[in-house]
Amino acid sequence: MAIQRQTRSSHPVQPGKTARNNDVFEQTLRPKSLSEYIGQSDIKGHLLVHLEAANKRNEPMGHALLHGPPGLGKTTLAHIIAREMGSQVRVTTGPAIEKPGDLASLLTNLESGDVLFIDEIHRLRPAIEEVLYSAMEDFVLDLVIGKGPTARSMRLELKPFTLVGATTKAGSISAPLRDRFVHNFKLQYYSEIEMEQIVERTAGILEVELEESVSNRIALSARATPRIANRLVRAVRDFAQVNDEPKISYDRVIETLESLGVDDRGLDKTDREILKAIIEKFAGGPVGLSTLAAATSEEEQTLEDMYEPYLLQQGYLQRTPKGRTVTQLAYELLGLPIPTDVQRGLF
Ligand code: ADP
Repeated sequence: MAIQRQTRSSHPVQPGKTARNNDVFEQTLRPKSLSEYIGQSDIKGHLLVHLEAANKRNEPMGHALLHGPPGLGKTTLAHIIAREMGSQVRVTTGPAIEKPGDLASLLTNLESGDVLFIDEIHRLRPAIEEVLYSAMEDFVLDLVIGKGPTARSMRLELKPFTLVGATTKAGSISAPLRDRFVHNFKLQYYSEIEMEQIVERTAGILEVELEESVSNRIALSARATPRIANRLVRAVRDFAQVNDEPKISYDRVIETLESLGVDDRGLDKTDREILKAIIEKFAGGPVGLSTLAAATSEEEQTLEDMYEPYLLQQGYLQRTPKGRTVTQLAYELLGLPIPTDVQRGLF
């Protein structure tokens, strides 16, 4: 078991967590307090109240579930919650906790008021979930030691802690686990203005000077996602550095974004391929996830976690009980003739 961030491969500008140096890079850029954390004002407002109340009672804040697409700031919020409570955060992921013993060792090592952050909590095994229930409710751990007739149960007292769970798939969390969270926060995609602020903040930390309009142009291409904004600023900085430019010009940004295949709506080559596949191979849909994954040579999870949420949010795609269908916007984006049933909104 690892008390670490799990890594998985992804497209260079997609928000999946990739190589270790990206993790180091993200830590440098991670906002350290709620006041530094841009956007998500509803969540921040709630957290301010609950953190203050918890601090006044000298108790840890209630367990919080954060959900939303990758790269929107869930891990960052978990770190901020710990910091605002003056405590430490332990980071792990659902699939990394393999046995109840792994969870026991994590929980028994927590100090009073610590935050345990479980990323991808929807991927916890059922046997682990069961052990987690009593830990969340009563800060005790009920373990069964041994097997068969010699098995015995053991109860361990835990120090009070806050569990912060993060998931890209709120629907995949079992009801008993979901019900044990006191707070349930859904992170939203960021507005253009917020994205611009994030780009400027990142550029400031990386000591990159931007010409006028550059932050807006990067913001537009960043898929409303801070992690992508960070990656784009870093890519643009590299392009400028290679060309000995002390200040990032608008043209350099366009050149970088074009070379990465990202447009000013935040869409990349794979987004377009997905939409094109639905139109050309499945007459605009509906098409099921596994069939679409096979047709685009992408993994189902990658499609579901990284591509679909933004395409849905931007209105290019729709999810119906029968599968995914494209909308009129997708035909317009790709410059393809719009079928009459789509024009009439019948799909
Ligand atoms: P998630 O856990 O949802 O995948 P992270 O919390 O790891 O996302 O965020 C990725 C990066 O995006 C962080 O390192 C941070 O630099 C940046 N970031 C996320 N949310 C914000 C925010 N609200 N304001 C500024 N930067 C942010």
